Amino acid sequence: MITIACDILVVGAGPAGSSAAREAAARGADVIVVDRRAVVGVPVQCAEYIPAPLIGELHLGRGFVVQPVKGMRTFLNGRLLQQIVAPGYTIRRDVFDQMLAEEARKSGARVLLSTTAVSRQDGEVVVRQKGASLSRIRPRVIIGADGPRSKVAGWISCNKKELMPAVQVRVALAQLMEFTEIFLDNRIYGGYGWLFPRGNEANVGVGMKIRNGGDRIGRVLQELLARLAAEGKIKGKPLGATAGWVPVEAAQTLRAGNILLAGDAAGHTHPITGAGIPQAVIGGRMAGKWAACAVDRADLSALAEYESEWREFFGEALEKASSRRRLLEREWDRLEEIVKYCWVTFKEYHSEYE
Ligand SMILES: Cc1cc2nc3c(=O)[nH]c(=O)nc-3n(C[C@H](O)[C@H](O)[C@H](O)COP(=O)(O)OP(=O)(O)OC[C@H]3O[C@@H](n4cnc5c(N)ncnc54)[C@H](O)[C@@H]3O)c2cc1C
Repeated sequence: MITIACDILVVGAGPAGSSAAREAAARGADVIVVDRRAVVGVPVQCAEYIPAPLIGELHLGRGFVVQPVKGMRTFLNGRLLQQIVAPGYTIRRDVFDQMLAEEARKSGARVLLSTTAVSRQDGEVVVRQKGASLSRIRPRVIIGADGPRSKVAGWISCNKKELMPAVQVRVALAQLMEFTEIFLDNRIYGGYGWLFPRGNEANVGVGMKIRNGGDRIGRVLQELLARLAAEGKIKGKPLGATAGWVPVEAAQTLRAGNILLAGDAAGHTHPITGAGIPQAVIGGRMAGKWAACAVDRADLSALAEYESEWREFFGEALEKASSRRRLLEREWDRLEEIVKYCWVTFKEYHSEYE
């Protein structure tokens, strides 16, 4: 079994991993990224919406943009409750992830695809590359950016985050749309349905918690599709389907020993909206920066700075969302009364709940 040494091993070439790798490599660290996928970003498991300010943060151009979005309409049990202006974009998530991985490569990171991190033994990470025998990587720092069901998080006993299932189809739109639509509904326990327009098509999905005696997620999605077709918003049969897990709870710690967690591996999606791309990109960069500092200073205590910086930037917003999620689940049967305290676009969300 061959052993390769490097400064930083990043597990996962999603937005968190590629952003971390780019940042660390640009600071001079010797970085290896492994991803079990054969092609970065494929298959897509995402509704593919990003808020407009993220584009300016990225400096990647607009090659991944499908269409601009003007704002959001929020429905409660089928009736329109609110329409707001909130600029954003729907994107090609596969292209987006590939551009981020390319940036990491250009900064000097080695990106190894079809390569799965299998286990950790004596400070080395055992990886299996498709068609090759096992090898070992000996890094000074490991960044776990391996998504919601992170193996790396398990290595530091941080993999007990709560995950919510989400299912989605791609479907033809009956006419072009400029707003995303959010469907809050008593039958979509702890979550919501969505329609995100992407040119002539839309991503329509449901993310929800499963409770005994409650509706099954697949059936809820079918009913949402039937309703949207009856309302003349979508047409025809689904053109494709995907599913995934959304963390609705952050990990207790982002760091142990020489390991950092970033993005969904750390549970950094927004506990109410399930959006996680901005946190993955920005948090990934922070992880890469502090990992490179730790290597440069030969002092792992620099990794603690990642946790502090991350909490300063995102901590308050995600804690608020966590507390509103607890309220939402506790008072679910009073959804009509509490909804404005539990969905981010209402002013009540930003005030105290009595
Ligand atoms: C249905 C759905 C819709 C969503 N819609 C949106 C949205 O519209 N907007 C938004 O902001 N967020 C959305 N999210 C959340 C968003 O997709 C995630 O927050 C984001 O992908 C997190 O990026 P990441 O890099 O942390 O993880 P990921 O994108 O999951 O990347 C992890 C990578 O790690 C790799 N990997 C995993 N295990 C291993 C291993 N052992 N060895 C090697 N590689 C490994 C995977 O192959 C993958 O490439 C959605 C999520 C779901 C499920």
